[in-house]
Amino acid sequence: MSTDTSPLLLDGRALAESIRSEFEPEVLAMVEAGRRPRLVVVQVGENDAAQAYIRGQRRGAEKWHLDFHLEVLPGDSTEGGVRKALRALNADKGVSGILLSLPLPDGLGTRALQHEIHPSKDVEGVHPENLGGLLWARYGLLPCTALAALALIDKSGIEVEGKEAVVVGHSEIVGKPVALLLLARNATVTVCHKFTADLAEHTKRADVVVVAVGKAGLIAADMVKQGAVVIDVGINAVPSDEGPGRMRLVGDVAFDEVSAKASAITPVPGGVGPVTVAMLMRNTVLAARGMPRPDDPGQLPLFA
Ligand code: NAP
Repeated sequence: MSTDTSPLLLDGRALAESIRSEFEPEVLAMVEAGRRPRLVVVQVGENDAAQAYIRGQRRGAEKWHLDFHLEVLPGDSTEGGVRKALRALNADKGVSGILLSLPLPDGLGTRALQHEIHPSKDVEGVHPENLGGLLWARYGLLPCTALAALALIDKSGIEVEGKEAVVVGHSEIVGKPVALLLLARNATVTVCHKFTADLAEHTKRADVVVVAVGKAGLIAADMVKQGAVVIDVGINAVPSDEGPGRMRLVGDVAFDEVSAKASAITPVPGGVGPVTVAMLMRNTVLAARGMPRPDDPGQLPLFA
């Protein structure tokens, strides 16, 4: 692997497209058979913060020939009301996958409602049964961003077995699942977070660094080993040079300086983001296919 000043740029858009085209014949056959996979996004009340994600999910579904439906529940819905809606979607044979858009209005329990989604339709991989499958390394539907990070590492050609992997951030949807996926591949995994005393001490010895925090510029060049693979999950809006009030998106990694040392690196935008959307669509197709649950025999390989 090259360790000069031109790292391998891990192109998330190209990987997303190759995942889509791999699944396209199966999706078209389902459509032909009158079983078009259907993704339902449940939004409770107005949620401006989620609109960009929902637009991306709708666009992704269209590209994949999937049916997309946004179900908007009133902002003053009770937890019981949202549960009822989720149960109806669980029972609807025409619905393949359900995504509960976050954040929810105050007073609604996120975990309780994620638990209500049937594990076989939980296309975000947030139900405890699917998260538990990560511990067993017997996989049901898995969190899309964690899958995306792993797929991008695979794409870089790095074998993680026996390597030092450092995950920065330990959220339930990104950091923790990524750490468990890397552990299942026999990497030596360190997980860093807000209370880590000396972040650089850990990242400097990593062969693979996965950063999922939400802090622009958190990882600088002097925190990364020469030749490391760097996966930047973060998305941050920072002021752009294009004029007052204009913003641009960057990751958690100081891209220009870190890419001079990395052997492979993901850009932001165009890295983890598009692959995450592809993984959501892939999960929807797997759910429509009838994904094995973690306790079923005959698990699929991770990237079947
Ligand atoms: P999150 O739930 O806020 O988790 C952030 C994690 O970072 C927490 O574990 C937090 O630790 C840790 N942290 C905070 N400050 C830190 C510091 N200075 N050093 C080390 N760790 C620190 O966020 P998330 O949902 O995992 O998302 C993380 C980032 O990825 C965000 O920018 C988000 O927008 C982005 N994201 C991107 C995609 C995509 O498709 N590209 C998908 C999902 C998320 P504590 O818990 O101890 O505070």
